[in-house]
Amino acid sequence: MSGFESRGAQTGYRGARAWLPQHDPAAASTLAAGGADCDPPEDWADRSPVWPDPVAAAQAIPAGRLPFNLNADAVLSYTVINGPAGQVLQSTGSLRPEPLTDQHAQELGDAFVAAYDWMRWQMHRHILGYTGGFPLWVWARTTRRDLVSTAQDMARESPGSVLICLRIPRTQLLLTDYFTWHDVLNGSPAVPVDCVGCGTRHCDDAECWDRWFDGWFDEWGAQIPPADDGARLPWWCWPPDLQTRLFASWEAVHSLRRRFPVQGCVERIEYAWVQAIRPLR
Ligand SMILES: [Zn+2]
Repeated sequence: MSGFESRGAQTGYRGARAWLPQHDPAAASTLAAGGADCDPPEDWADRSPVWPDPVAAAQAIPAGRLPFNLNADAVLSYTVINGPAGQVLQSTGSLRPEPLTDQHAQELGDAFVAAYDWMRWQMHRHILGYTGGFPLWVWARTTRRDLVSTAQDMARESPGSVLICLRIPRTQLLLTDYFTWHDVLNGSPAVPVDCVGCGTRHCDDAECWDRWFDGWFDEWGAQIPPADDGARLPWWCWPPDLQTRLFASWEAVHSLRRRFPVQGCVERIEYAWVQAIRPLR
């Protein structure tokens, strides 16, 4: 498969076709059966005909510990979307992300576009009826303080932004570990879920880590081939065996017990899932 070969200086990302062995849109569409819970309720247009007045983020989010529950059939989640996206959600009953344009892809950069394609592969594996779209992001477990801060930033950057509280059917939601996702964004291997030192799942013994982490890290670094210009070859150009090991390490993104913040990806947001909408100021 030519996408795996080192192509000298031509290390630019050319899209998921080069490396995604299991991403098959035809197969994804056959999963669509059973998506009946996705239809908006007939009364959706009446459920919030007038949005409440904008409030500060700290008022929009209930005080105290947020009752997140990753095991629920309908998972409590929060997200902030911009005003126009909120209008689309309200007027059509659902919201999907725009397809990636060339300009947006250029702004994101090769590494992020490749990481997003990897996440789309995970969505294909875990979301019922997934049709290949780009993810919309939600928080499924975070602190109130971080959520308020995120909402404040978004309201400042994009006036008219809207905080949405959702209950998302578990079959429509891919939950992942927020920090491990950053290994994917960085194109770096993720630390094993089973501790290399003692074999314990989610070992958090710092002394145990001290004994193996540097060696593990160096062993990985030594295997990554250099590009012609001496920089590290991006992962989508790695040899297949090393890429397979990398993907195996990234499976840690599905382990939600190790660390606190948990993000969610959905292919769409349905008005039927909305618990509360709070325009932000
Ligand atoms: Zn250990």
